[in-house]
Amino acid sequence: MSGFDSILVVDWSAAQRGPVRPSKDAIWMALATPHSACEPLYCRSRQDAEREITRIIEAQRTAGHRLLCCFDFPFAYPQGFAQRVTGTEDPMALWDWLEARITDTEEGQNNRFEVAEQINGLWDGPGPFWGKTHHDKWPDIPYRKAGITYQPVAEKRLCEIRARAASSCFQLNFPPTVGGQALMGLPVLARLRRATGAAAWPFEPWQDAAVVLAEIWPGLIETAVKAATGPDDIRDAVQVRALAQTLASLPNETLADMMQDHPAIARTEGWILGADHGPTLTTLAQTPEKPPAPPPLRNDCFALPAGVDWTPVDDALAALRAALRPVVGQGPCPVQHARGRILAQPVTAPRASPPYANSAVDGYGFAHDSLPSGDPVLPLIEGRAAAGVPFNGQVPAGHAIRILTGATLPAGVDTIILEEDTTVGDTQIAFRAGIKPRANARRVGEDVQAGDTLLPAGRVLTSPDLAMLSSVGVKEIKAHTRLRVAVISTGDELIDTGTDAKPGQIYDANRPMLLALLDQLGLVSVDMGRIPDDRDALKSALDSAADQADAILTSGGASAGDEDHVSALLRDAGAMQQWRIALKPGRPLAMGMWHGRPVFGLPGNPVAALVCTLIFARPALGLLAGAGWHIPQGFDVPAAFEKHKKPGRREYLRARIRSGQVEVFASEGSGRISGLSWAEGLVELPDGALHIRPGDLVRYIPYGSFML
Ligand code: AMP
Ligand code: MG
Repeated sequence: MSGFDSILVVDWSAAQRGPVRPSKDAIWMALATPHSACEPLYCRSRQDAEREITRIIEAQRTAGHRLLCCFDFPFAYPQGFAQRVTGTEDPMALWDWLEARITDTEEGQNNRFEVAEQINGLWDGPGPFWGKTHHDKWPDIPYRKAGITYQPVAEKRLCEIRARAASSCFQLNFPPTVGGQALMGLPVLARLRRATGAAAWPFEPWQDAAVVLAEIWPGLIETAVKAATGPDDIRDAVQVRALAQTLASLPNETLADMMQDHPAIARTEGWILGADHGPTLTTLAQTPEKPPAPPPLRNDCFALPAGVDWTPVDDALAALRAALRPVVGQGPCPVQHARGRILAQPVTAPRASPPYANSAVDGYGFAHDSLPSGDPVLPLIEGRAAAGVPFNGQVPAGHAIRILTGATLPAGVDTIILEEDTTVGDTQIAFRAGIKPRANARRVGEDVQAGDTLLPAGRVLTSPDLAMLSSVGVKEIKAHTRLRVAVISTGDELIDTGTDAKPGQIYDANRPMLLALLDQLGLVSVDMGRIPDDRDALKSALDSAADQADAILTSGGASAGDEDHVSALLRDAGAMQQWRIALKPGRPLAMGMWHGRPVFGLPGNPVAALVCTLIFARPALGLLAGAGWHIPQGFDVPAAFEKHKKPGRREYLRARIRSGQVEVFASEGSGRISGLSWAEGLVELPDGALHIRPGDLVRYIPYGSFML
């Protein structure tokens, strides 16, 4: 496998949950490719960061990119440490050991001092861990280093000595708190490694791995970071971006050399990537122009592969998927009002379902192993068990009791015979032999066990989900705040319905459609009105849209003509990409950023506007909203039409199903808005040439498949 396509650099933290406003005390990360670096990303908690990294890994994998993930804390300890703690020198065993013990909450409450104290207990003298937040707590952790001998396990790893790092992985408190960061970071690495199959460098073979985890030390480019940090900049943010870019700009062979270049002891102690290459990295970081690493494009999230004239739909979608991330916060939401809301955290079951063993039918209960041989005749005991009204006594062996659906199984009952299968007398029941043990009985937790994960983060809650959550007693969930999306129509020719049309004027069709569509998607739509083809007016509309919403949809003015002010403004802001996508119907899409908000500049033509919204904006908005990437469910249905399709672009036809066949709108003319309304979905035809005959299977995607 060749070099890496993208580099993620993560600046870890052992601190409590960081403030909402980006600050230096939480976790920062930056993703860079050889051609660009996205804005550094701020995560308030380690859990946020873990989710974010998992998402980035998945997105890069989907985009077919090879990814190097670098973290700024030690991946292992000096030789002999792991052996003492876990009984083996394998650092991966130590990761798992810590993962099994370290606890952490979203607020950052964790047990790192308790775990460090437990480890110190394995040593005879004081240490090896030292430094704590409370002088009198954790008696087995020395407050200061004095008196710790570091025998036979050294204080520092060889790579730290080589890189002249000041810190030690045994220092838990007082800056630099590298020791605390490692204790809180290694469990996360253990999980990431397991969940994504990433290889940990240099412990595991990394040469062919699609995702590699590696240790880095930002101190290596310290001088460059200092020079690049302005008075208003957050140092950590500058640092992760600079480091990611520097690594991304390295020639493949240089990076490969750095990764090969470590002594044998690195297999147990780990190594700092570039430990012996500090000067190379510093030079590169200070002269980013030399190898082709352009200055950070703050707004380049929408860059498409260069040199491609018309980007295939799938490539464009992969680029969008890799570029975007959730931008919404989270908060509690009552389950009752949660339909359509997006889970910000997985939900686990507080109680089992069923919570107690109960009857699945109306009938008679007894203990199966007390049945006589042959067709049973059982005496009935007094009383009965009903849902909500349990029978509290014991049912004697060889006896039966009347029991109703949902009733708790009384003591002495494990099997129920269906009422219809019995003959009932005054004091006894009779039935045929052959009933199986535990027939018609529901076991405790046979559906859901307490502690089971019921739904993952990102789930868009359905009405049945509310039933499931309520059934196990979940009253409130953590939901993402709803993504707000502003809608702007542009064009001098547009007027609102309800006003008289002068010659040359047309009614605005896109805005009502897009606003309603956003509502259907469960997002918050913000109507910014209709703006003439006037740059200043459009500029202030975009400003106020960026203030009020998380993302912006515009229609019209997105091409490259004189009156195409949306693209002109975005281009002036230095934040515009003309996406020429091989798609019909569709004109170029103007994708850009306005004051940090993604703008989807849709074509004005309503047919093209809808198709571009469903195919591109819809999955992108889902990702921004926290719901992950959604691929609309299509169905292969026999065609009721014939068509010769030309090669070179994907086509979407307005379509609907009648009598089990998919029919398409008579005219493909993209000016025919009535066809959008006639249709109930789209037929998607692949990029290549195709001759479709009646009866051939074609891909039909109902409008409903595009909804969240
Ligand atoms: P444009 O993308 O601005 O060049 O517009 C392309 C075509 O779509 C022109 O015929 C416009 O009049 C029409 N159009 C633009 N916006 C709308 C809209 N909001 N409703 C209906 N038609 C529109
Ligand atoms: Mg226009």
